[in-house]
Amino acid sequence: MNPKNLLDLHIHTDNSFDGNHSAIFLCETAVSRGLRAVALTDHLEMDHFFDQNFDRTAMQSYFEIVKARSAFRGTLVVLAGVELGDPTYDIPQSEALLRQYDYDFVIGSIHNLRNTADFWFLRYDEITDDEIRTLLEQYFEEVLALARWGKFDALAHLTYPLRYICGEHGRKVDLHVYAQQIDAILETAAKNQLALEINTSGLRQKIGVTMPNLDIVRRFRALGGKRVTIGSDAHFAKDLGAGIAEGMEIALRAGFSHVSLYQNREPIEILIA
Ligand SMILES: [Zn+2]
Ligand SMILES: [Zn+2]
Repeated sequence: MNPKNLLDLHIHTDNSFDGNHSAIFLCETAVSRGLRAVALTDHLEMDHFFDQNFDRTAMQSYFEIVKARSAFRGTLVVLAGVELGDPTYDIPQSEALLRQYDYDFVIGSIHNLRNTADFWFLRYDEITDDEIRTLLEQYFEEVLALARWGKFDALAHLTYPLRYICGEHGRKVDLHVYAQQIDAILETAAKNQLALEINTSGLRQKIGVTMPNLDIVRRFRALGGKRVTIGSDAHFAKDLGAGIAEGMEIALRAGFSHVSLYQNREPIEILIA
């Protein structure tokens, strides 16, 4: 498959603490790779909004993305996006932020449990299977709360902790154990008209699959999900557009004929072709 409508809706600029390239350079790279549209979606970790200066980041990121959007008008669709990390841990501030900026596209994600470090930091080789199970149950509980709040467009990288638990640390996880929790998340996301993101970063990492995987995307469809978005979660220009064709293939196999992009927070369906 060599799709024409390549869209990458999850990209970090150097306004993300772990990003490396400017908005303008990323857009130039996107044009050279033949992408139709990109959403630049810097991290704002809403549980540390003021103590880690995400208020400044929000302003700088939005300003530079809007500048890139107008510089590339007619050449590349640039969407002013944002990745809200853990917005349910500070709902008033998250809702205030969404009133403050005219985003095109808002991603919602869970990166850590409340008052806990990012799943990236936890030592999975030193904990028992029961502790891993408890962690994952708490993670899915928080994602369900996020989907219930629902004031965003796409639910990001569902199964994110597996990147570290299974990918980096090689621990085995049977997702069937969490089937009820995952179903509740997918049903709630569908009911709240959220898109499910197919995050392709896992394809270039040790975990080796998208987050979530094909089975979960297919289940979302079965439970009434109407939309998917696809994003590389690139933190470097070299990863821009990585895995998007494979992500589209997964969307098709799961029963979706279209992927979505968002302008002014409104979905636009793009045929996978
Ligand atoms: Zn994320
Ligand atoms: Zn991200």
